[in-house]
Amino acid sequence: MRRPLVAGNWKMNGSIDGVAALVGGLNEGLGAIDRVDVLLCPPMVFLRQVRESAAVSIALGAQDVSEYEAGAYTGETAASMLTDLGCEYVIVGHSERRALFGDSDARVAAKFAAAQRAGLRPILCVGETLAQREAGATLSVVAAQIDAVLATQGVAAFAKAEVAYEPVWAIGSGLTAAPVQAQAVHAAIRAQIAARDAEVASGLRILYGGSVSAATAEALFDQPDIDGGLVGGASLKVDEFLAICRSAAS
Ligand code: PEP
Repeated sequence: MRRPLVAGNWKMNGSIDGVAALVGGLNEGLGAIDRVDVLLCPPMVFLRQVRESAAVSIALGAQDVSEYEAGAYTGETAASMLTDLGCEYVIVGHSERRALFGDSDARVAAKFAAAQRAGLRPILCVGETLAQREAGATLSVVAAQIDAVLATQGVAAFAKAEVAYEPVWAIGSGLTAAPVQAQAVHAAIRAQIAARDAEVASGLRILYGGSVSAATAEALFDQPDIDGGLVGGASLKVDEFLAICRSAAS
């Protein structure tokens, strides 16, 4: 039985006061919620504040990591720095990084590897654009994104990672994939991993992301291969995020 994971991706939002209010509200509300792992991924500059103020049951993660270990890489953050700060997870290959910052499949695989070398669990984001979906290429696009990591890291690496299926057209758009649409892709991802290692596949948590809200979470999480969510906008609102965590736990 896979324990669900709900991860909040705050993206580039927040302030010292705003983080204090958000974490305070979550600490209060999450005490009553069991049977779900909750993860917060704030901007790098707030990692320490969140670690020091969030309840110990709340895991900490970053939104990106350098593929390099250390040295002359201005602006980059090494995986070892993230573990030093108390991070357990890191998002790699988010579609915003792929589209806006040139994160290719190869670089995403290198970041995935750097994260695991430092003991972090990468959350590998995959997903198709609207044009790719309309061209009937969803499954092949997602499979290629997964293959890029499988090819360099091998299937065993997925025993210490999560995958997040995030259709690009659903991110920040208010459009959520229909539960059956998302389930079809999640099942295909699990089958792709199972073709190499059935045990790794059955333990792999595959999160759904793309405008998840309190209203849509329950039907998504009811699907057999959806093991929680990667939540952007709704993770910035205490009540909305708590409601999503409750849906995952139920
Ligand atoms: C995301 O940033 O990963 C995401 C899914 O965002 P949103 O929930 O706002 O669509």
